[in-house]
Amino acid sequence: MKIPGGKKAAVLYIGYHDPLDEAYFPKVMALRLEPGLTIIRVSHDGTCPKLKDGPCRCDAEVDTELYQP
Ligand SMILES: [Zn+2]
Repeated sequence: MKIPGGKKAAVLYIGYHDPLDEAYFPKVMALRLEPGLTIIRVSHDGTCPKLKDGPCRCDAEVDTELYQP
C-alpha cells in the first residue's frame, strides 16, 4: 500500500499465511483478553518479511486496546 506523496508508515492488512508460521502468533495467543471487543495491534520491525508479503520473522510488538464505542 503506497499513499501518493507520502511514505509508507502503516499497513492494516497484509496477505495471509498459516498463523502457526508467523513469529508474532505465540504472543497473540498468550494475551489475556478482557470481556468485550479488543483491538490487537501487531507492530512489525521495518525489516520483517511480513511487510513484503512473507511470513513474520521479527520480534513484533503486540499491544491491545479495549474498544470503546
Ligand atoms: Zn513481523
